[in-house]
Amino acid sequence: MTSNSSKHLVCYIVSQGLAKTSSLLPSNKKRSIIVHSLISSLGILNPHFSDTHRIQVVNPRKATYKELAVYHSNDYLDFVLDSKNYVSSAGDAPMDASLNANFGLEDDCPPFQGLPDYIQLVAGAVLTAAEVLRQSKAEIAICWDGGRHHAQKSHASGFCYVADCILAILALKRRLPSAYIPNMIPTQKPRVMYLDLDLHYSDAVSDAFFSSVTPQVLTLSIHHSAPGFFPVSARSQLPSVSSPDFDPFTLSIPLLKGASNSTYARIWPIVERVKDTFAPDFIVIQCGVDALAEDPCATFNWSLGGAAGSLGWYINKILEWQGSKLLLGGGGYNSPNAARAWAYLTSLCLQRPLSLDTEIPDHSGFPLYAPSFTLDVPRGNMHDHNTDDHLSSVEAVFQDVIPIIQARLER
Ligand SMILES: [Zn+2]
Repeated sequence: MTSNSSKHLVCYIVSQGLAKTSSLLPSNKKRSIIVHSLISSLGILNPHFSDTHRIQVVNPRKATYKELAVYHSNDYLDFVLDSKNYVSSAGDAPMDASLNANFGLEDDCPPFQGLPDYIQLVAGAVLTAAEVLRQSKAEIAICWDGGRHHAQKSHASGFCYVADCILAILALKRRLPSAYIPNMIPTQKPRVMYLDLDLHYSDAVSDAFFSSVTPQVLTLSIHHSAPGFFPVSARSQLPSVSSPDFDPFTLSIPLLKGASNSTYARIWPIVERVKDTFAPDFIVIQCGVDALAEDPCATFNWSLGGAAGSLGWYINKILEWQGSKLLLGGGGYNSPNAARAWAYLTSLCLQRPLSLDTEIPDHSGFPLYAPSFTLDVPRGNMHDHNTDDHLSSVEAVFQDVIPIIQARLER
């Protein structure tokens, strides 16, 4: 038996305050509590869960105004961090709807009681995770309440109010004291790869690092793209190396409806070659689970585990990569399935994979797991529209992209 101190450390970022305030998110009501309750009831947070890895629960601090302002605009922060701006004393009716609209606090991003705490805690959680990784205290940090990849500098968008992915990347890309990474040249700045597995394109994150002068951050988003599908962006399309706008560090793999394990397995070599070429020091993985079968988005047909190409298979492969990893949450609108998925992925991080037929333990959320009452999220019957032609065109484009990444890094 390995002693606790010699085990690899995995930091799991959560606190009661974070779970409570994340559970107020209008698009994902109670999801955070459902997720953390399942993970806890499965015994995953027990330090003895794994023989080789030790999980440590780390409570996040609240991000300060200054830390949020590293990306967000002062106008946005001044508005969203003061609930008097949008919550009347009588309840949650907006004081001035036009002001809300200026900052995107309408439609799918309504203001809600607790929004200032939510923003500061979610940002604080990913910054806490980034610090743990930067100081080499752990090789893996998990923050399932993060992953809000649509939040913009000055406005909320697509259920996202805080740009935590961007704040995490900005923290990780800062120059490290050489003591933290012994093999790094002291003047070298770390490279950060952002890999987005959510059903939706990572518009805000990809835009934030688009066309950076120094190629220190690479974003790769695998998502559904179709006319009118959120978020509408030219960069959600397959890159075009001949376009004047082409940036080899802002990459997309658009997939058609019904993407299944076999489609994900087919594109995996591209993901791996991009990673090998870029050679990141840190990998931020946005693990949104709205591409899984049974999500209300009903667009993709990905399964949680089992077959080659599944979400679990992807995460296992990524965990073999060199470099420290930050796993974030994201979309996922079937809350018990999000809990199943993130519980399973947490067990993979601890190198003690739960069996997919694990029975859901008796806990407060138990009735939500009917009718299977097991951990698995199997694939459904949806037809996979990703034809050999489509996938061949993706492969052909990346055949050209990879040498360009290499050439730019050598400049
Ligand atoms: Zn999504």
